[in-house]
Amino acid sequence: MKRDIYDSDHEAFRKSVREFMERMVIPNLESYAENKAFPREVWLAAGEQGLLGLGIPEEYGGSEAEDFRFAAVLGEETSKVNAALNSCWGIHSDTVVPYFVELATEEQRQRWLPGIASGEILCAIGMTEPGGGSDLAALKTTAVRDGDEWVINGSKTFITNGYSADLVLVAVKTSPEKKARGISLFAVETTLEGFSRGRKLDKVGQDESDTAELFFDNVRVTDAELIGELDHGFIHMMQWLPQERLGSAISNVAHAKQILLETIEYAKDRTAFGQQIGSFQHNKFLLAELVTQIEVAEAFVDKCVLAHTCGELSAIDAAKVKWWAAQTQSEVLDHCVQLYGGYGYMNEYRVARAWRDARVTKIWAGSNEIMKELIGRDLGF
Ligand SMILES: Cc1cc2nc3c(=O)[nH]c(=O)nc-3n(C[C@H](O)[C@H](O)[C@H](O)COP(=O)(O)OP(=O)(O)OC[C@H]3O[C@@H](n4cnc5c(N)ncnc54)[C@H](O)[C@@H]3O)c2cc1C
Repeated sequence: MKRDIYDSDHEAFRKSVREFMERMVIPNLESYAENKAFPREVWLAAGEQGLLGLGIPEEYGGSEAEDFRFAAVLGEETSKVNAALNSCWGIHSDTVVPYFVELATEEQRQRWLPGIASGEILCAIGMTEPGGGSDLAALKTTAVRDGDEWVINGSKTFITNGYSADLVLVAVKTSPEKKARGISLFAVETTLEGFSRGRKLDKVGQDESDTAELFFDNVRVTDAELIGELDHGFIHMMQWLPQERLGSAISNVAHAKQILLETIEYAKDRTAFGQQIGSFQHNKFLLAELVTQIEVAEAFVDKCVLAHTCGELSAIDAAKVKWWAAQTQSEVLDHCVQLYGGYGYMNEYRVARAWRDARVTKIWAGSNEIMKELIGRDLGF
């Protein structure tokens, strides 16, 4: 089905992203998986091409894209190649950047945004803690006032880009007695005394992304590192989580669509009982269902992208598209693995890795259950 939300400028940008992937990323994917990280040179090259600063104004070194659809195109093209790359860049550019662009002071913008756009400053966001991620209001890391400074103590876990980040946006309790209304956000430079990180976590999928636990042991910051308003961190996060959730949905559908297209080709090439495996009626019908499922999901994602581009995407619609896209991806990729037979279970086959990579998307950025909780509450329950 022809999509109608992208114009020739977006398509030209898509072409340039593809060219970047072919030149810089695809030839080295094996080594990224082995090292459980994308090397800094990939970040710097992406920064040089303006891929990391789409949401950053030009005056701070960004490429200042006209609208969110450019970020959506970037998300699609990276996800087609490697879901983990999209996760790492997505956290850096789509999740963290808005806090700095929209909430930071002029001094803070000048201090960090140019490095974020160029890839010299790599970002992470620390919300989840070992004790829990779904119930953000219950987080336990604290920042306690001591003279002109704040002293941070606690830990965060499962943090994407955590092992290599230079700057972590950390959610902490500044007024614990006020629960959700007592959370603030601090930008913590990872060179600060008292900050440390654990090993790269050994994950089921998305091998190429570095994910780590972060520790804060009397880390001292000042008001110059406070992002947004004191005790308004929860509200700030609620404001920007929809963009992260939409980014996840864009990636899920693009990733699943790409693997499905490859599976259709496989089903044409592979034969059993003297015929193409795709031509067995069961498989033919299954593939017909899967392409329809993907196109329906894509149409919903496109509608949400357009709504977000106009500043009209509601938190509830973001929750709907996030869980729906994660679920669709999961179902489609599971069928793709089945269609590959034994090869579908071999790590050297892309379909197997894609299936592993996809699993986390039903858990992170607000699990599918939390998305349904939000939607259910909106229904009045
Ligand atoms: C690879 C990876 C990367 C990640 N990157 C980041 C990152 O960069 N930054 C960050 O802050 N976090 C990150 N996360 C954390 C992620 O967002 C959390 O894992 C997620 O929010 C769930 O929190 P939890 O793991 O503590 O599970 P829990 O909150 O303990 O939930 C456990 C289960 O209970 C369910 N559950 C909880 N509450 C309810 C409820 N009210 N109703 C129904 N079911 C419920 C959940 O859906 C889940 O199935 C990452 C996680 C992974 C795996």
